[in-house]
Amino acid sequence: MIPKETVDQIIETARVEEVVGDYVNLKKRGANLLGLCPFHNEKTPSFTVSPAKGIYKCFGCGKAGGSVNFIMDHEHFTYPEALKFLANKYNIELEEEELTADQIQQANEKESLFIISQFASEFFQDQLINTDQGKAIGLSYFKERGFREDIIEKFKLGYSPDEWDAFTKTALAKGYRLDYLEKTGLSIVKGEKHFDRFKGRVIFPIQNISGRVIGFGGRTLLADKKTAKYLNSPESEIYHKSNVLYGLNHAKKRIIEQDVCFLVEGYTDVISFHQSGVENVVSSSGTSLTVEQIRLIKRYSQNITILFDGDAAGIKAAFRGIDMILEEGMNVKVLAFPDGEDPDSYAKKHSTSELIEFLSSNAFDFIRFKTNLLLEETGDDPIKRAGLIKEIVGSIALIPDPIARSVYLQECSNLLKIDEQALLSELNKVRRDKLSKKAQKSNFHSEIPLPSEEFAPIEEEENKINKQKFSPTEFQEKDIIRTLIKFGNHTITITVDDTLPKEQQEFLEVQIAEYIVHEVEKDGLDFTLALMQKIYDIFKVAVEKEQVVEERGLISHTDKQISEFVIESLMEKYSLSVNWVEKHNILTIHEEDILDKSIHKGICSWRLNKVQLMIEERQIKLKENPEEYETILLEINRLLEAKKALALELGRIVLN
Ligand code: ATP
Ligand code: MN
Repeated sequence: MIPKETVDQIIETARVEEVVGDYVNLKKRGANLLGLCPFHNEKTPSFTVSPAKGIYKCFGCGKAGGSVNFIMDHEHFTYPEALKFLANKYNIELEEEELTADQIQQANEKESLFIISQFASEFFQDQLINTDQGKAIGLSYFKERGFREDIIEKFKLGYSPDEWDAFTKTALAKGYRLDYLEKTGLSIVKGEKHFDRFKGRVIFPIQNISGRVIGFGGRTLLADKKTAKYLNSPESEIYHKSNVLYGLNHAKKRIIEQDVCFLVEGYTDVISFHQSGVENVVSSSGTSLTVEQIRLIKRYSQNITILFDGDAAGIKAAFRGIDMILEEGMNVKVLAFPDGEDPDSYAKKHSTSELIEFLSSNAFDFIRFKTNLLLEETGDDPIKRAGLIKEIVGSIALIPDPIARSVYLQECSNLLKIDEQALLSELNKVRRDKLSKKAQKSNFHSEIPLPSEEFAPIEEEENKINKQKFSPTEFQEKDIIRTLIKFGNHTITITVDDTLPKEQQEFLEVQIAEYIVHEVEKDGLDFTLALMQKIYDIFKVAVEKEQVVEERGLISHTDKQISEFVIESLMEKYSLSVNWVEKHNILTIHEEDILDKSIHKGICSWRLNKVQLMIEERQIKLKENPEEYETILLEINRLLEAKKALALELGRIVLN
C-alpha cells in the first residue's frame, strides 16, 4: 500500500506534459500541446495535452487520462505499478508497508530465479557468439536457417555446449545456488550429480512482457528421431506457461498500432516474421493456447488472427482457439498456409510486401473459414450438413455481444443458404442449454428459475440495448454529472424563491456541488446509470462533510470508468447548457453565466422524466396486481401531482 499523501505527491509532481513528453513529440498549440497519438496509428496529430488541467485526450481514438493513466495505458501497468514508476522517475521515496519474513524470503527467491535466468541467457549468448563450438554448431545452424545477426541478438538466441554440465559448473563457480538452478530447470540434479537440461541445444530465451528472461526453449541439432526436437523449461515461480506469450515483449507496441495480433505456432515463426518486418506476432510455445494468453492479447487489441499450417492437427487447434477467443468477446480471423508451408517457411520464401499482402488477403473471418472447411467435408449429405450447422452455430453462441451474434448469424445464413429464423432458434436453443448447464455447475437449485434476461432471444436483447443508448434520462444524467465535475467547486448566486416578485427576492451564495446535491436529494431519486450514481455519490459524501472534491483526485481515480468520464467531461467545451444554448441561439453567453438556471432546468427535466417513468411502472403494476389497486392508484396520484409541479417549475425557468 502506498500512503495517500505519497500518491498525492506523485500526482502533483508528475506533470502530464513531462510524462507524456517522454513518449510523444509534443508541439505547442494555444494553451495545449499536440502530438501524434501513441495509442493508435495516425498521420495528423489529434493527441492533446492540457498542462493546465493535467490531462491528455486523443480526439482520434478517445484515450484520455492524467499522468498516471498515461503510464498505465502505455506501459500496461496496474495503478500501483504506475505510481511506483513515476515515483522512481521523480525520485520520490516510497515507504511501502513492511513485508513479513516469509514474504521477504519469497521475494528473494523469485528475484534469485530472475537473476539466474538472466545469467544463463547471457552465458548461452556468449557461447553462441564467442566460442568455437558455439560458432561452428549453434551459430551456423541459425545462419543456415537464414536468421540475420541483428535478429539473433534481438531475440537473445544462444547455444548450450554439448557437455554434461558446462553451464551448471560455471553457474556454481559464480556462486549461484544449486537449489535455485534446479528450480529454474536449467540444471537437473540426480543425487550427487547435476546436468545441464539444454545440453547441446540452441537456445530461445522466453521473456515476460517487460523483457525479463523467465524460461528457455531449446532445439536439438540432432536429426535423431528419439530426441525431442524442442525442450522447454519446466514451470517455476517465475515461469507460468499458461500466462506467457513468446514474443509479446517485442510485439506489444505493434499490436496496439496495427490493432491486430498474429498468433503463430512457435519460436521460429515469431522470429522469421520479425525478420520480415511483421512484428505484431506472438506464439504460445510450449502449451496449447490458454484463456490467460488470450486475455494478455486483449490488453493490446480486440483482434486476433490465428495463423497455422493447413494440416489436420493445425486445423483442430485453430478450431479450439477460435471458440476460446470468441468467448472472450474478441474478434478472430483465421489464415491457413498452403500445403507444406508454415509461417516461418513462408516468410523466408517471400518478400516483406508479399508476406503482408498474403496476410491481408488470406485471413478469413471464422464463420467463412469454418463453413468452407466443413462444407468440403460434408458435401450434400443432409445429416452431416445438420451437424455442420450445429457446429457453426455453437461457435456463434459463444459470442457475448448480442449484436455481434446477430451479424454473424446473418453471414452464416447467407453462406449456408439457410433461413435466418431457423438458425436463430437453433442458436437460442444452444444458449439455453449452455445456461442451464452453467446453472447446474454453479449449484443453482434446479427449481430456481434462471434469470430471464439471459434467455431473451436476440431481438429482445437488441431492443434493450438500443433503448439504453438513446434514452433521454440517461443523457440528462450525464449532463448533470458533467456539470458537477466541471463546476462543482464554483459558487453561484441563486434566487431562493423565484415565484416572488423581483423586489422581494432573496439571494444565496452556494457551491454548485451543494446546490446540485440538494436538488437531486429533494425527492430522493437514484440515477439510472450506475456510473453516474457512483460519481454523484463521491460529491454527495463530500458535500455532507463540507469538503470539496478535487479535480486531480477524480482524474486519477482508480476506477477507470470514473476517470475516463471525468476527463471526457473536462475536455468538452460545453456541458449542461449546450443543448439549451444552441436551441436558443445565444452562443455568445458564457456557460458559467447561465449556470444557475441551466442546472436547475437540467435537474428539473431529469426529475420530470424519472417521475414519468415511475408513473408508467405503476401503471403496469396496476394491471398485474389488481388486488393492490388502491395503494398503487394512490402512488400514481402522488406522482402525477409531482409531475404537475415539476412541469410548472420548468416552465418558469426562463434563461436569459
Ligand atoms: P524444422 O526445421 O524441422 O521445420 P522447426 O524448428 O522449424 O523444425 P517445427 O517442427 O517446424 O520446428 O515447429 C515450428 C515451431 O513450433 C517451432 O519454432 C517451435 O517453436 C514450435 N514447436 C514445435 N515443437 C515444439 C515443442 N515440442 N515444444 C515447444 N515448441 C515446439
Ligand atoms: Mn519449421
